[in-house]
Amino acid sequence: PPKGEDVLRVSKLRKTFGGLVAVNDVSFSVGAGEIVGLIGPNGAGKSTSFNLITGVLAASAGEVRVRGEDITGWPARRIARLGVARTFQHVKLVHGMSVIDNVALGRHLLGRASAVRGALRLDREEEAAIFAEAHRQLARVGLAEHADAIASELALGQQRLVEIARALCLDPVLLLLDEPAAGLRHNEKVALADLLRKVRDSGVSILLVEHDMDFVMGLTDRLVVMNFGAELAQGRPAEIQRNPAVLEAYLGS
Ligand code: ADP
Ligand code: MG
Repeated sequence: PPKGEDVLRVSKLRKTFGGLVAVNDVSFSVGAGEIVGLIGPNGAGKSTSFNLITGVLAASAGEVRVRGEDITGWPARRIARLGVARTFQHVKLVHGMSVIDNVALGRHLLGRASAVRGALRLDREEEAAIFAEAHRQLARVGLAEHADAIASELALGQQRLVEIARALCLDPVLLLLDEPAAGLRHNEKVALADLLRKVRDSGVSILLVEHDMDFVMGLTDRLVVMNFGAELAQGRPAEIQRNPAVLEAYLGS
């Protein structure tokens, strides 16, 4: 997409669980070539927002647009195929399966038919292409040598990287990462930030939830701050760092 065009635009997005307003009329956008951080205290509504954007949950009200197209109410699979890829706060890998098979699952989503039919009846050429792409993305996150390991045998931080590789296999326009740096060592966080900048520079916009403020401040172009379901502030990292309402939300409660 051309620079300046919104890849994601969320308008007055709302989600209630019974009497609880988990996401309260939130509006923000992610532009082409941007890394945007979605931050806020625990329970602020960040993961729920991801679930609304990716169709895992149905919104109670509001609108989600991807490159101008209204995707509100679309099923998760259709949103993924449009190019919205994600990882989960609680890693979702098929634990008994190899790392490379887990990564290839991301690519199967793009196939002509269902993942199940694809897994069972792919012709050899298509399957080879899928695994070539899976190996390429696994190398990109630095885990090439772990391709044949069982996913559950990797450290949690590495499992998060496998999820990122799987998401990249979808050839996304927008990548949503829920706490990607959790469980990573310092040097792994540095490598992850480097990877995400390269991913952005290759034309993939990124929206990420993360609690490690050094990581967030050093990586993101812009921040959206949520508190109690509502949008508290938006701005450049340097502005957000000295925003009194933001400091109050983190320290005052
Ligand atoms: P965050 O990711 O910012 O920590 P969440 O989006 O996970 O916050 O949660 C926001 C609020 O919504 C919390 O109060 C949480 O308990 C509540 N919540 C999240 N998912 C559900 C659900 N499926 N059912 C009921 N309440 C939920
Ligand atoms: Mg969360």
